[in-house]
Amino acid sequence: MTHRFPERGAGREDVLGELESARVNDVRWKDGRAFSLVFYPGEEIYSLVRDAFLLYFSENALNPSAFPSLRKFETETAAMLCDLMRGGPTAAGNMTSGGTESILLAVYAAREWARKHKPDVTEPEILLPITAHPAFDKAAHYFGLTIKRIPLREDYRADASALPGLISRRTILIAGSAPQYPQGVVDPIAEMSEIARKNDILFHTDACVGGMTLPFVRMSGRPVPDFDFSLPGVTSISVDIHKYGYAAKGASVILYRDRKLRREQYFVEAGWTGGIYGSPGILGTRIGGSIAAAWAVIRFLGTEGYLQLTKSVMDTVDRIRKEVQSIPGLAVLSNPDGPVISLISQAGSNLDIYQTGDELQMRGWHLDKQQNPDSLHLTVSHAHVQSADDFLRDLRECAKIASGWNRHRLGAVTQEAVVGFLARVLPPSWIRSLSKLTGGTGGGRSAAMYGMIGSLPPGDDLRDIVLDFMDRLYEPPKK
Ligand SMILES: *Cc1c(COP(=O)(O)O)cnc(C)c1O
Repeated sequence: MTHRFPERGAGREDVLGELESARVNDVRWKDGRAFSLVFYPGEEIYSLVRDAFLLYFSENALNPSAFPSLRKFETETAAMLCDLMRGGPTAAGNMTSGGTESILLAVYAAREWARKHKPDVTEPEILLPITAHPAFDKAAHYFGLTIKRIPLREDYRADASALPGLISRRTILIAGSAPQYPQGVVDPIAEMSEIARKNDILFHTDACVGGMTLPFVRMSGRPVPDFDFSLPGVTSISVDIHKYGYAAKGASVILYRDRKLRREQYFVEAGWTGGIYGSPGILGTRIGGSIAAAWAVIRFLGTEGYLQLTKSVMDTVDRIRKEVQSIPGLAVLSNPDGPVISLISQAGSNLDIYQTGDELQMRGWHLDKQQNPDSLHLTVSHAHVQSADDFLRDLRECAKIASGWNRHRLGAVTQEAVVGFLARVLPPSWIRSLSKLTGGTGGGRSAAMYGMIGSLPPGDDLRDIVLDFMDRLYEPPKK
């Protein structure tokens, strides 16, 4: 036991001081150094969001009858998002704590719907593009559903032509993404949702990352494929407000074409000794601050404000894409539809993209590593309008350093897959502990793992290794 429950309290200044000093090694997101995790809209909008959050810091949306204020903010926010997603008069939704909860609820509602309307289906299946967010896998895992994978086309969009061959009487839900996270391309939602509709199957559009940027990308005059309720086959949509809505964390919506489907998402326990308990989503107590801040930032910015933010973000994306073309060995993967892009090493070049990511990391940039293919992920948002020049200068230098570096030291392809996966999922601090665990010398750079990790087994054992790591991760740091 490394941390005892404190005997005595500490002073206010000490506590706040410890909080402040603990963040020294955190990524500097306000400086546009994080290409995921935080969406910083600049000080004016940020301070509005923070003030709104703090005003409703203590309020609890568990029981909206005690807080008509939160009920107003939640219902109005869901309604405004239904409008942005071009829903009709029957469209309705709820706020949730994030994209994962929204997706869990969409899948759960589909399962409950199928229990009523397709009672002979005892082993329900959902069809997901290979690139769909793992929140769907989590949902299938939690709710006992089987997943069938929709293959991708060459451009990394889901291959809609494969759907008819995958659909069976067990299929209860098909999903597509707008855009999918890894490469930032929008799946052919029009085609996919139409096939779903013709087969009497529900269709979910995952617009978690795109829902609050693609409509404004389109308004700015750039082509964006349809993905919302304007397509008759789309029956539910998830949109995160805590991403490109620039709200405080803990804010997403799950929207349904028809409120009858939303009903399937609700939970009621009518016989509890504590009273009748009804809850719209997965959480019990719900943070009032997130709901109020989401409503506030939409009120504050409106279409005009989001359009302006989106234009400057897309101009920055253009700058990055253009500059990448002139960096030897580097390329943007596929043709992204919005501000989410990924970088690969060009076919035939000897640039190592993971090594490029490590070099960037050492200069204080945070980019996620991806697999199949090896790539770096950039969620370009407003913070990068300012930091793009510095980033591109460092990217050029890091790509140069990472050229000529190759992994010939590594033998088997399976090992490469294992290492690639770990390098992607594990932050550098874990990799340091991993290198200790495997007897290596470490050094904190994930590309350096390749030399030391050859002893790791592939396959199912990999999952166990990651589980062991998670077990360690959620232990407190040594004092
Ligand atoms: C972020 C994201 C999610 C999950 O959202 P969380 O808020 O992290 O739970 C789901 N789908 C896509 C496409 C995303 O980008």
